[in-house]
Parts: sequence; C-alpha cells; structure tokens
Amino acid sequence: MFNIVIFGPPGSGKGTQSERIIEKYQLVHLSTGDLLRAEKRSGSELGKKIMALIDKGNLVPDEMVQQMVRAFVLEHAHTNGFIFDGFPRTVKQAEWLEKMLAEFNAEVNVLLALEVPDEELHKRLLSRGAISGRADDQDDKIIKNRIKVYHSQTMPVMDFYKGRGQYKGVNGVGTLDDVFERICRTIDNTN
Ligand code: ADP
Repeated sequence: MFNIVIFGPPGSGKGTQSERIIEKYQLVHLSTGDLLRAEKRSGSELGKKIMALIDKGNLVPDEMVQQMVRAFVLEHAHTNGFIFDGFPRTVKQAEWLEKMLAEFNAEVNVLLALEVPDEELHKRLLSRGAISGRADDQDDKIIKNRIKVYHSQTMPVMDFYKGRGQYKGVNGVGTLDDVFERICRTIDNTN
C-alpha cells in the first residue's frame, strides 16, 4: 500500500487536489470531512452531535472520527493505497493511524503539507461558502475559529511526521495545475 496524508489548513485545496491525485495514482480518497458530513445528513443522533461541533468550527472527538476511518479502511482494504484528507488532525489521531496501518503492514509513506497564507485562506473559504452552501464556510467568526483550531491542535501533527522523515512541504499558492504539478513531483520523488 502507498499511503499519502494530504495536510494543510482549511481552504488550502486538500479536497480538490485529492481528487486529482486519486485519479493519477489510483488511490482511494478518505476524507473525514466528507464522512462526517454524510453522517450529519443522515439525521442520526450521532449526526446531530457532529453537526453541533462542525457548525461551530470545532473538532469532532478523536474516537468518533477514528471509528469512521477504521470502518472505511476495512471496506477498502484491497486498494493500492489511501489518500487521507482531513485526517489526522490531532497528534492522538496521528499516533492511532500509525498503529492502525501497522495492522495492514502499511504506513504513511508521505505527508504533503499544502502551504497557504492565512489571509488567502480566509478569502478562499468565503468564496467557497457562497457556492457550496457549507455553513462553516459562510461565517467570518467560524472561519477564524477553524484557522485558530488548525494552528493550536492540528499544526503539532506536522512535527510528528517531521520527526519520522515523512513530511514534505508543497507551495499551495498558484493555479490548480501548478499546485498539482508540484504535488506529483513530490510524490514521484518519494520511494
Ligand atoms: P476543511 O479542510 O475545509 O476544514 P473538512 O471537510 O476537512 O474541511 O472538515 C470540516 C470539519 O469537519 C472540521 O472543521 C471539523 O469540525 C470536522 N473534522 C473533519 N475531519 C476531522 C478530524 N480528523 N477530526 C476532528 N474533526 C474533523
């Protein structure tokens, strides 16, 4: 299995680039944001809890997300590999992912960190909100909170992967094609 973590702040282009990567490298896209939004739409009790957290821009508890990730990985266990998008978002999740993949004799082969300045993110999220209707992309305060949560809870995940030599930074500013080309170059240089 060849596994990629695509990492970056909200609005950095993880989802869009993931779609292109899965096509080129024949990987399965695992987006925890998509999985959580699907649960939210189902209207279940769990979905209601999730909605309250997402709509404020806060993280969903690790155990809840991990359970969904495990179920999804088991469902697609015969794939060439996964691209993890939006996961891991905390160091606890990163530690958990390492153990879980070890059960499949696999690991995270590379973490691609999309680098985009905060002001640019803010602009992108607001314009995405106008199109997608995502409540968490339409409110200034919620966007600011998500960027804050990213800095406090998610950025430490980078050090976890830097320590393991799996971290690769990619400039996330430019056209979609430019960024995709940089990503492919980085993947192709990973053994
Ligand atoms: P973005 O990258 O734009 O923030 P996502 O779709 O990845 O969008 O995530 C949307 C929301 O879903 C997050 O703000 C958070 O509330 C929740 N979420 C997604 N992934 C995780 C995760 N791994 N752990 C906890 N919460 C998550």
